[in-house]
Amino acid sequence: MTLGSHMTSYVFITGGVVSSLGKGITSACLGAILEARGLTISMIKLDPYINVDPGTMSPFQHGEVFVTHDGTETDLDLGHYERFVRTAHGGRNSNFTTGRIYESVIGKERRGDYLGATVQVIPHITDEIKQSIELGAGDADICLVEIGGTVGDIESLPFLEAIRQMGVELGHERVVYVHLTLVPFISTSSEIKTKPTQHSVKELRSIGIQPDILVCRSEQPLPDEQRRKIALFTNVREKAVISAYDADDLYKIPLMMHEQGLDEIVARQLGLELPEADLGEWQAIVEAKQNPQVDVDVAMVGKYMDLKDSYISLVEALQHGGIHTRTRVNIHFIESRDIEENGVDCLQNMDGIVVPGGFGDRGIEGKIETVRFARESGIPYLGICLGMQVAVIEAARNLAGLKGAMSTEFDPGTPHPVVGLITEWQDQTGDTEQRDEDSELGGTMRLGAQPITLADGSLAARSYGSTSIEERHRHRYEVNNNYRKQLTDAGLRFSGLSIDDLVEVVELPGHPWFVASQFHPEFTSNPRDGHPLFKSFIGAARRHREGELPEAAEA
Ligand code: GLN
Repeated sequence: MTLGSHMTSYVFITGGVVSSLGKGITSACLGAILEARGLTISMIKLDPYINVDPGTMSPFQHGEVFVTHDGTETDLDLGHYERFVRTAHGGRNSNFTTGRIYESVIGKERRGDYLGATVQVIPHITDEIKQSIELGAGDADICLVEIGGTVGDIESLPFLEAIRQMGVELGHERVVYVHLTLVPFISTSSEIKTKPTQHSVKELRSIGIQPDILVCRSEQPLPDEQRRKIALFTNVREKAVISAYDADDLYKIPLMMHEQGLDEIVARQLGLELPEADLGEWQAIVEAKQNPQVDVDVAMVGKYMDLKDSYISLVEALQHGGIHTRTRVNIHFIESRDIEENGVDCLQNMDGIVVPGGFGDRGIEGKIETVRFARESGIPYLGICLGMQVAVIEAARNLAGLKGAMSTEFDPGTPHPVVGLITEWQDQTGDTEQRDEDSELGGTMRLGAQPITLADGSLAARSYGSTSIEERHRHRYEVNNNYRKQLTDAGLRFSGLSIDDLVEVVELPGHPWFVASQFHPEFTSNPRDGHPLFKSFIGAARRHREGELPEAAEA
């Protein structure tokens, strides 16, 4: 195969032994090192659960819902893909669940598309899976397909059968199977155990898939002896048994994999002659992380603080801000309930405060108190989505004197609904047709990338270095435009607006650094480029730490 002929090759990544081994990160890093060899990459996640998409799943269960450019609510692994691979543009055809596959097959059956056939898992479900994979692959040189769950799960069988068939249909030169396993270290006997890996590969082979590459997760680098043993028992070449030992830094993993030749093994099998890998940017990231000039403490005040996966993109974006300002960012996760019970003392020594997105009212007053503290103390504040809405509520209550101001999400009977559903506050004769129609369809969520205009000279515009930007959304409630005049008079600046005049950014002129956005900037941050808003925020936190932050910023 030659490059550019647009015969996409496939790398399938399965997992064994246990879940949570970091299959998403492994897939993303493999994408990164293949991309570093000059290939274009597309990435797909197949999820064996029955939900049609993860949009309705609790972050407690499944971690963050990642929103793609086109507004699809997807698995958080798609966030890893976008952070590691520039050519992978996730979207509607990058994440398929069992529910979505069945929904489509049943839809076809109802329409009579199967011409009277008995509709079965094989071939109808497996054909649908294969078509979905082809759709998601696009015209990339290589499509990486991660199969969620663990080999041996009942739910994942149709997916594994589909990728087995693709191997037969496309041949060994166009399909590579990678299997991720765990090689545990038993401390009581000081032994490294290869048996679970052997069993997992046996399971995979029993359904007809012989892995070409094993990626073995372990605490320490895998000694040669164990590598040999695994190779022997699994029928995988010794060189293709890769040791993915625990890394203290996520961004070292592409380098670790490249050192063991993983990209070359894939390239060889696919018959690709490629230029040397250019991993300079990844080296620079690791270098920057290892040599920070200063530490900052940033508080994140939210609702799911015991499950950090629910804010994974935000945590990463803050770290990216640190990489690009040579700052080590220590994030302190604080339950907003704690602020309600114990006050804001825990925020005293922070250099920056973030209130992230959220749904449901638990801890809402704690978040409002947090904003008040950030505003009064002059500590840099970044509000995201709900974090912007609480900033508006706080300003309404404490600057504009609107007692009891609230979002109708949390208090439908509030005397001052400064945040509400657009249908609750917008003049019905206005041009609300599109959104009203959406809400009738039940699709009330504003989702995906939309253009935003930033006010000239605003802190947001200065941070972005531009007055026209595009960012992703995932929310239902909007700032009530009927209160905009009153809030502006009270000192709040609406410095970013959507094309249909909805509030996108608020700032507090006079505060050293206070920006809150209705959109989610964290979804477009990646370690190599950083994100303008996070770089600016961490820069301000750094100046706060170094005592260089002015008392008042220019408006
Ligand atoms: N619950 C709020 C809304 O729906 C905020 C959502 C969010 O923070 N993602 O508008």
